[in-house]
Amino acid sequence: MSARRTLPEGARRGWCPSLARPMPTGDGLLARVHPPLGALSAAQMRAVAAGARAHGNGHIDVTARGNLQIRGVSEASAPRLACALAQAGLGDTRDDGGPQRLPDDPRRAVAACPGAPACCSGTTPVPDHAARLAQALAPLAGLGTAASVHVSGCAKGCAHPGPADLTLVGRDGAYDVVLAGPASGKPATRLAFEAALDRIRKAAAAGLSPPDPMFSQVFQDDVR
Ligand code: SF4
Repeated sequence: MSARRTLPEGARRGWCPSLARPMPTGDGLLARVHPPLGALSAAQMRAVAAGARAHGNGHIDVTARGNLQIRGVSEASAPRLACALAQAGLGDTRDDGGPQRLPDDPRRAVAACPGAPACCSGTTPVPDHAARLAQALAPLAGLGTAASVHVSGCAKGCAHPGPADLTLVGRDGAYDVVLAGPASGKPATRLAFEAALDRIRKAAAAGLSPPDPMFSQVFQDDVR
């Protein structure tokens, strides 16, 4: 492979590449993929690899922030790459070409492990549940950028060993709900995911978010 050429820094400063707005570099366009919740399924990894081969030069970078960059994309192949990755659930999160991870993006506040079936200790599909939880929290502004919400496949808490304002801990297909503690903490209650999500949606609709004590109360009425 020939040595990669780079453009002068001034040509790239401020550019936040995405699939819809790839950035010119010395070896063609660079398209950046932002894995939702920082995780990729096996199928998504295959889609990225196939996309890099079919629509770029096959070269994939991993950035310091855990994003992926597909290099050697052309003006003609960029839309096809964006379409292929959108079908794999890796499309841009906004369509105006702006930064794909905003400071108040609620996904930044949600930590999640692979869960089941990727990990044999898990019994719940953690990434799917974490994505839905982030969506439920989306109306709320001001969630922290550090993990304040954690969805864990089990009490080991691999994705976030420390305490979070709200932690859902998978066990036997449902979730123990831990408030202001780690995944190994004492649960306030135990709920099926849909029931937990319903309560979180209602709290969010009322403008309540963790760590507001009023938010915690939506889980306090059936402490066991
Ligand atoms: S927290 Fe449990 S389910 Fe999740 S990756 Fe770790 S061991 Fe697996």
